[in-house]
Amino acid sequence: MKKDKPLLALDFDGVLHSYDSGWQGADVVNDPPVPGAMEFVLSARKEFTLAVFSARSGQPGGIIAMQDWMHRHLLNEALILYRDEKVAHIQVGKTMGKIQWPTEKPPAFVTIDDRAITFTGTFPDLDQLKAFRPWNKQE
Ligand SMILES: [Mg+2]
Repeated sequence: MKKDKPLLALDFDGVLHSYDSGWQGADVVNDPPVPGAMEFVLSARKEFTLAVFSARSGQPGGIIAMQDWMHRHLLNEALILYRDEKVAHIQVGKTMGKIQWPTEKPPAFVTIDDRAITFTGTFPDLDQLKAFRPWNKQE
């Protein structure tokens, strides 16, 4: 039997979706991908089970909106990457078919999120926490 791949949980806004416009509603996803995000997803799915989990996930229309966006942008990237329409569609189909869209926080091997810090055993300073800024909002 094939061994299950470790689960990589991916946050959506600020990790895959650039989220330049901020929150417009759970079902509104209009910004481009973060540079490199689609290429990352196309290759990461070979080593990991991918689960996209976001604040949108539990809201009406949220998952469908993320799936539509993901499909469209994966295809754009795959067409550039593989320079072959048929191969691009096959790769995107395989990738989309393997992405999980849980409505609750998945039990991940590791998570990529733009609004988290890695706990190292030492609790962070409260002022540092209050001053937290995601990577794309830093000066
Ligand atoms: Mg985020």
